[in-house]
Amino acid sequence: MEAGAIDPRTIRLVGGDVALDFVNTIDEGVDVLATAAGFAVWADRVGLPSPARRVPLSEVHAARAVLDAVLRPLATGGAPRPADLRALRELERAALAGATLVPGGWRFGDPLAAIVHAATELIARGRLDRLKACANHDHPCDWLFLDDSRNGTRRWCSMEGCGTEVKIRRLTARRRAAGRGVS
Ligand SMILES: [Zn+2]
Repeated sequence: MEAGAIDPRTIRLVGGDVALDFVNTIDEGVDVLATAAGFAVWADRVGLPSPARRVPLSEVHAARAVLDAVLRPLATGGAPRPADLRALRELERAALAGATLVPGGWRFGDPLAAIVHAATELIARGRLDRLKACANHDHPCDWLFLDDSRNGTRRWCSMEGCGTEVKIRRLTARRRAAGRGVS
């Protein structure tokens, strides 16, 4: 992999929800939120509020682990553990404590609080039947996404990325099986 090929500026945003894009900030073992500056760049890119405080990296990583622990089972046909749901509820309580209620919703002065709230909204009111994990298991890609296709048949985090990868692999396998093409 080229150095710097994946960073907070270039990582694909395909989750369909900021909470899922946040969980998807590790790609091929590269954590694009490995630094506080990286988190600030990513948060700005996805349109989150500029932090009123410097968000400690340990809080970012802890929140991401909680969101992953709750959302991944929901995406793969399981159920989150009660302890993980409680942990998310605690994060949400802290997030709302620092938020302002305005007509139309909450205003957050803290990007991490906004992400936590997005996750609880997704769990409480989102279309969980459309919450999926990428079916590209060879790469392997374990990104989460909301399937926004009309028939609910989307299987990959993105058609340009994993979808194309899987199709090329199948085509190559078929050609090999047919005894032509790849030698
Ligand atoms: Zn994928």
